[in-house]
Formats: sequence, structure tokens, C-alpha cells
Amino acid sequence: MASPVFRLYDTMSRQVEEVTPLEPDHLRMYTCGPTVYNVAHIGNFHTFLTSDLIVRTAQALGWRVSHVSNITDVGHLTESDVSDGSEDRMAKGLHSKEGSAFANVWDLADHYASLYKEDSRRLNLLEPMVRPRATQHIREQILAAEKLVKNGHAYETPTGVYFSVKSFKGYGKLSGNKDQESLKRAVRNVVTDDNKRHPADFALWKKDDKHLMQWYSPFGWGFPGWHLECTVMAQTYLGETIDLHAGGEDLVFPHHECEIAQSECLTGKPFCNHWVHTRFLQVEGEKMSKSEGNFYSVRDLVDEMGADPLAVRYALIAGVYGKPMNFTLQGLRDAAGNIERFQQCDAWAVKALAKGPFGPDELGPTLDGLYEECLVAMCDDLNTAVALAKALEGTRAILREGEAMSKASAASARAFLDKTNGLLGIVRPESPGCTPKAPGVDEGRILALIEERGEAKKGRDFARADAIRSQLESEGIELRDGPEGTTWRRRV
Ligand code: AMP
Ligand code: ZN
Repeated sequence: MASPVFRLYDTMSRQVEEVTPLEPDHLRMYTCGPTVYNVAHIGNFHTFLTSDLIVRTAQALGWRVSHVSNITDVGHLTESDVSDGSEDRMAKGLHSKEGSAFANVWDLADHYASLYKEDSRRLNLLEPMVRPRATQHIREQILAAEKLVKNGHAYETPTGVYFSVKSFKGYGKLSGNKDQESLKRAVRNVVTDDNKRHPADFALWKKDDKHLMQWYSPFGWGFPGWHLECTVMAQTYLGETIDLHAGGEDLVFPHHECEIAQSECLTGKPFCNHWVHTRFLQVEGEKMSKSEGNFYSVRDLVDEMGADPLAVRYALIAGVYGKPMNFTLQGLRDAAGNIERFQQCDAWAVKALAKGPFGPDELGPTLDGLYEECLVAMCDDLNTAVALAKALEGTRAILREGEAMSKASAASARAFLDKTNGLLGIVRPESPGCTPKAPGVDEGRILALIEERGEAKKGRDFARADAIRSQLESEGIELRDGPEGTTWRRRV
């Protein structure tokens, strides 16, 4: 079968378009990463998973992918900060209850950056080619601000250096925000300064010699504006024109609009050919918020509630990225059941490959067809709902074939599971950190009880074996007997 055409919705053209890398079969893409002032939540990961699925789909088509995803470790104003005129996000993190554990903002950034990377690994996100940090690219940001001043797109005032939105006629082309009123709502990183030429002019450099994080520049001590970091990091690693840029829907305006303005005024060339934005994740039908009690990080679900990280991944990709997605604990439980099916199939296939009978391949053609349908669905604007349904249909075929499948069927099952894992990342963890830890659980004791139960079964003392299972069940620990022995997990 010829490779399907990879199509994604493009926020700029407002239609589903073919993804056409400038260099054939080499996708150069950039994803805006998290601000590391606290733990990334599952909404953030829903967006990062969209990028991961784009990378995986492109790779499944045989493309090379250069994926850059940054870490924002410089503080930037949040909307509420603008109105109360106070701290930026990093400072806020440091002054929070959790922040008091850190000596300084740099340590705080390191800590949350490493938690973010750990959670990314647990959710089976592929490691990007580069994960640059904004603080490692201050020099490039200063040079970019200087260049924009020199070529007339930016100007200096007593409080900073501002990009002049009127100097770029394409301003507003991504978001459609061209009228004065909506431009005034360009809240994040817009500073009130009477010397600004237009209210929507945004900061490239803020002068502030009192700030927690500051660098010296030709404009004096201060720190860069938020939008500039992504422009320089994308261009440093991927070139002046990139193929695809991704992020959550809130970044369309002002962040990405401002990135386009800066980048195109720096180079005179188009900045990016395809814009992909993920709609926001809700939890149990509500906006996620700490006060509503529906705010989850990956570690809440995995470490506190004992969920399998792959089930979290499954639940987060079950909804298509282009529609608002509702994450529920019931959805997570369903996902856990589906992950177990993949793992059951995998275990049976491994066993049958080694010890199964010789005989015809009963699975190959069915599974090949299902994988093709899975890939076609992913190429159709990342239709994960259909892709996952096709992958599950594959598990049903394998489970029907049974534990005693032939070696040839097992080889087809393994090939299907490998390809499905490559495309969706839901069959097996790609790094060891994926195993959930259950809090407050004495794993040694559970393992000893599992062993005792095994011995009891061997000695035909089924009453004792059942009693052990019931005891653990009453503690919320579920036992699973599989071909590789007995495993345990904490019920969500
Ligand atoms: P931040 O750390 O706030 O810069 O966010 C990192 C990424 O997560 C950005 O692409 C945001 O658009 C995205 N994001 C934030 N909240 C959500 C949410 N509830 N659902 C999906 N994506 C989100
Ligand atoms: Zn960005």
C-alpha cells in the first residue's frame, strides 16, 4: 500500500492541510514546552502528547524528525500578574509553599524541569532532539532584540525594548486579532508603559535590575520577553523557516502571533508552514483547578493513585486533539483495562514465539490490514479515536487466537504490537521509569505474600491462597496471574 498522506489542521489557513516538509521526508518541528515553576499537569501533557503523536506518525511514514521542545525557565508575567502588577511565574513558584524548599529560583527551575522530564518518560513521550532552556539562550535573545531595534521593528523606552506591532503588516494573521480592541487584550507579557507607541506592542527586553533573574545587555540589566525565547531557539536549531510549530490553544495569541512577528522581521522569511494547536483538557467536565479538586499531575495519578503511566497516556490520547477533551477517572480505568489487553497479547506472543507450536500464520493479513488502518487514521489529522479502536481490534484478534498460537502467528502479533507501539506508544514502556509506585505500600510484604500464595497453590491449599488475595484486595491491591507469574497493582 502507498503511504497515506499526512494531513493536519493548520491554525493559519483554518483547514486540514497536507504536511509538506521543506526538505522532503524531514520534518523540522518546534513545540512550546512548560514553564518550570511548578509541576506540569495532565492538561500540559495532553498538549505535549499531540506533538509526540505527530513525531511518531511522521516516523511511521519513514520521515526523519528533528523535534525541538523548549523549557521556559525565565519568569514571565501571567494575566493575573498584569492586573495586580506583581510577580512573574518563576518568582511566584519560589514564593509559594513548595518553593520555600529551594535556595533560589535556579534550583527551583532545575527541580521542576527534571520532574517534567521524568513524567515525559513515564508517559512514553519520545525524547526531542534538543530540549533547550531559555536561560541557555539569553545571548541570542539579546542579539535578536538589538537586530529588531536596528531594522526599525523595535524601539527602546526607559522600561524596556518593545516590538512595534504596526511595523509588521502580518500581525494578527494567525489569530485573526487585527482590530485594536483585541490587540489591547494581548495581556501576557504586555507591560503598561506610557512610552509605548501602541498598547499591543510587546516586550523583547524588560529593564529590571531588581529582578530575581537578570542579565546584562546593551539596554542594561534585565530579562527577555517571553515570546523571544521560542523565536531564537526554533531558529537556532531548526533554521529560519520551520515546517511545524505546536502548542496549546491558549498560545495562538499572543505568544505565537508575536513569535511570527519577531521571526519574520528578523529574517524576512516565512517563520513556519504549519501551526498545530491542541484544545484544552477538562477534567470531569470542568476546567482543571486546584480549588475544584480536579487538578491532576502525572505524579498524582501514578504515585498517589497507583495508575499505570501507560493507562494515563492512553486516557490522554483517547480524545482527538482538535476537540476539547474531557478526562475522567472512569476513562482512566477503561484505559487501564485496554493497556492490560495489549500487555496480555505481548506476553502471549513472546511466550508463543519461544515455545509455541509450528503451524500457519493465522494473524498476519488481519493485523497488517489493521495497522494500515491505524496509520491512515493518524494521518487523518491524528484521529486517535479511530486509531485506538483499530489497535484494539488487533488485540481482539490476537486474544482470539489464544495463548497456544503458532510461532508464525506469534511473530505477526509481535510485529503488529511493535508497530502499534511505535505509532501510539501504548504497548510497553520505552524507559524503565514507567512502572507505577504505590504510595504507602510495602512492596516487600506484597511480594512475600505473592510468593506465599504461590506456594499455597502448589500445596493445593487454595483456602490460604484465596485468603491472601482477599487480604490484599481489601487493601486496594489487585493481583494478576499471567504467563510470566503473578503481578500486582494498586487499583485506581
Ligand atoms: P505553560 O507551562 O503554561 O506554558 O503550558 C505548557 C503547555 O501546556 C502550553 O502549550 C499550554 O498551551 C498547554 N496547556 C496548558 N493548560 C492546558 C490544558 N488544560 N489543556 C491542554 N493544554 C494545556
Ligand atoms: Zn513558545
